[in-house]
Amino acid sequence: MTAANFSSEIIYADNAATTPIDADALALMVELQKKFFANPSAAYSLSRQLRKILQDSREKIAACINAEPYEIFFTSGGTESDNWAIKSVALANLSERPDIVTSAVEHKAVLNSCAALKNLGCTVNKLPVDYNGTVSFDALRKKITRRTKIVSIMLANNEVGTIQPVKALAEIAHDKRKIFHTDAVQAVGHIPVDVENLGVDMLSASAHKFNGPKGVGFLYVREGLRILPYIDGGDQEFSKRAGTENVPAIAAMALALEKNCRVMRKTAAKLSSCAKTLIDCLRNSGADFIVNGGENRLPGHLSLSFRNCDGETLMHRLDLKNICVATGSACNSRRTEISHVLKALKVPKEYIRGTIRVTFGKDNSVSEAETVGKILSEIISGK
Ligand code: PLP
Repeated sequence: MTAANFSSEIIYADNAATTPIDADALALMVELQKKFFANPSAAYSLSRQLRKILQDSREKIAACINAEPYEIFFTSGGTESDNWAIKSVALANLSERPDIVTSAVEHKAVLNSCAALKNLGCTVNKLPVDYNGTVSFDALRKKITRRTKIVSIMLANNEVGTIQPVKALAEIAHDKRKIFHTDAVQAVGHIPVDVENLGVDMLSASAHKFNGPKGVGFLYVREGLRILPYIDGGDQEFSKRAGTENVPAIAAMALALEKNCRVMRKTAAKLSSCAKTLIDCLRNSGADFIVNGGENRLPGHLSLSFRNCDGETLMHRLDLKNICVATGSACNSRRTEISHVLKALKVPKEYIRGTIRVTFGKDNSVSEAETVGKILSEIISGK
């Protein structure tokens, strides 16, 4: 089966795991890979053109999140950006055995960065969330101590889509003179992200979540905030992240983000219609289910828990009908254990095992959402 006929047969509704690459971004990446293969650090004019492409990409990305170009550091993706942000602050203060404050619903890239730092003597405080997945302001105020060096709370959750009140959370951290990082991997390119308005000090993003290529992302670091280099070597990325830059992927990331941001409102409206169509279909069929994550969620992002069902079975039965959805987050979808996010939300026990995640993307149509709704209703009702 070729990639082409594979993709035309399926309904892909797992866009929180990864998104299909935008056609123009792919074309640009291929073209640059062919024509601009030189090392951007070399002295001849071909390399100067590559440095110009890098700078243009930095400017484009900065403009999309209201940052300055020199505040954007290219990385290999969300995992690296999260590791860099948290570890650089903690390691710079390691002798003081710093406290890190985060939430119970973070991605493993954050939680396991914190776990690694715990092994080095740091203390990690995980804030609980309410049943919508939201961190409380009081809980954050109480957990910040004199030894806290960094607060890391995600902008949007990858499993249930909850959007956190990051602006207010960052204000609380700043009132206590603490650095605030947000994992915005699920948010960038999907909802408006303005680093000035949010008031964050660092922000992680990943291209493959906004129709860019895999293996590339960025970390925003507010001007004046000094962070340790992540990879030692040459002087790429302002001597903070060494290694020859992947210019074609970076340029494709910038283009994909720019394109998504340009049509963000229109896409969000369509995604909300897709989500509503699926929910209406399930409700009309009489299915007994909960929509997790509260009202303030990413558009088109549905975490659905069906009473007395098995999420994994639902996922496989949908797969047999060429519909791709997830059970939990993609990173642990091969394990059957209940996700830490659903546990933190205290999804009732008769529903929690029957959870699937349906995440529509810009290439999905309302009619596809209708098909998913119809087939899922049939599976649930045992037809
Ligand atoms: N953070 C969140 C919220 C994510 O959803 C993901 C990916 O699933 C990551 C971080 C890791 O990003 P990447 O796959 O680019 O390493």
